[in-house]
Amino acid sequence: MFLNKIISRISIRWRLTILFTLVFGTAMGLYGYATAEFLRKSLAKEFDDSLFNYAVDLTDQITLDPEGDLLLSPPQLDRAKIYPFYLGTALIQIRHKSGTVLSKEGNWGSLEIPYKTELDRLAKGEEAVYTMLEDLSDLPTPESASYRLIHFPIDNSLPPHLILQVAVPMSILENQIADRRRAFQFGIPAVIGFAILCSYFLAARAMRPINSMVSQVRNIRAQELSRRLPEPVTHDEIRLLSVTLNQMLDRIERAFLSQEKFIADASHQLLTPLSIMKGVLEASGKQPLSTESTQSCLQEVDHLSVVVQNLLVLARMDIGVESIVMAPVQFQEVVFSVLRKTESLAKKKNIRIKFNLQGPNPQELEPPPVQGDEALLGTLVFNLVENALKYSDPSSLVELALKWDKRRQQLTVMDLGPGIPKGLETEIFDRFRRVDQASILKAPGYGLGLSIARKISDVHQGKLWAENRHSSGTSGSLFHFEIPNG
Ligand code: ADP
Repeated sequence: MFLNKIISRISIRWRLTILFTLVFGTAMGLYGYATAEFLRKSLAKEFDDSLFNYAVDLTDQITLDPEGDLLLSPPQLDRAKIYPFYLGTALIQIRHKSGTVLSKEGNWGSLEIPYKTELDRLAKGEEAVYTMLEDLSDLPTPESASYRLIHFPIDNSLPPHLILQVAVPMSILENQIADRRRAFQFGIPAVIGFAILCSYFLAARAMRPINSMVSQVRNIRAQELSRRLPEPVTHDEIRLLSVTLNQMLDRIERAFLSQEKFIADASHQLLTPLSIMKGVLEASGKQPLSTESTQSCLQEVDHLSVVVQNLLVLARMDIGVESIVMAPVQFQEVVFSVLRKTESLAKKKNIRIKFNLQGPNPQELEPPPVQGDEALLGTLVFNLVENALKYSDPSSLVELALKWDKRRQQLTVMDLGPGIPKGLETEIFDRFRRVDQASILKAPGYGLGLSIARKISDVHQGKLWAENRHSSGTSGSLFHFEIPNG
């Protein structure tokens, strides 16, 4: 939690640098440790091998004098051989298996070295036994902090009768190991430091296009919404980001323009009836209002209240205030109730209405319920059916079909009216959009019914779209509304 808080305050440039340092540093650390360990082990092995060869050479020089005593003549060693220890400081002794020291070479002082366990191991057939000598307090002139000790059988019997014990200082090996360790101790942090610097500058380079995008977006003001970001010719995330931001700017510009258009259209729709009423009322100052004038005034008041009511519904749904009551609804019942409401309008124009229910198989006569607001769904269907009746010629046919399957239901409202001009199938859902055609404009309307229907469809996670029938020879339009089953 606390770490998240800190991380969220660090810039991406630093975050990338820290992440890279952590990953690279850990990898380098592990690699350095493993390599140092490997080197240490191979140097120690080489050291033991040399000590073994030294013991073999010494064994060859052991002689028996005429009295039967063992003589350890000063080692005559091959000078061409290089040993990783100082030969002059080697401590050598021959020991009988009883423990008696038979011969000694070197400045041992009062130092006693163990032999029992080592003799047991040699008795089991080990070629040589190596131990460490760390307590050197009895050695008069120790050459290093620890000595390596080899216990080597002089004869072939098991257990051997005689063993050669050679102790040599570890100083050369210790120095070699310390040298290599130092190389790692300084080398690895230096490499990591260099990598941090590089990653910091590389992260800055990688972030440069994003920073420039940020300052360009910052400079786009409300009056300059047509400005766009340059899209690099690369195929990377930066291009994707600027393309996405440009698409978002497209949407914002469109929304901004349609908002401006909406305000202009709404003002026009409200002003027209108001100026008509003003004219009528002004005239009433000169002579009393005729029944016709009063009628016209009342008609304009009706227009005004319909527009204002529709605008209110849209505005409330836009900000989510409209109290939406979601519950299981039998959608076909909603359609039936709308048909009852529009019956008189259909009769007036002598229009026949057909309603067809079509399930996935003939046994299923009733669709499953949908999750929705009954009143709002009623308004949606009413707006579609009312339009179909409004824009159809008298004595024509309006057909409704409700199809459903396991997942969704689709209502289609078809008429034989003028249809929707090609290319306007989407635009007619915009607020105040009416097709500029005499056959349309003669029917009363304000261009708000479909935008309300679209809004209701969106609230129900549905889909609402229009098609025209020009392609099939006859004119007319098709409105489809799809809603998921509840
Ligand atoms: P109104 O019907 O009040 O004009 P709508 O929002 O309901 O507003 O419809 C917007 C426009 O879509 C209509 O003015 C008309 O041009 C077109 N339209 C809607 N329904 C139909 C239809 N059934 N046939 C032809 N055009 C239609």
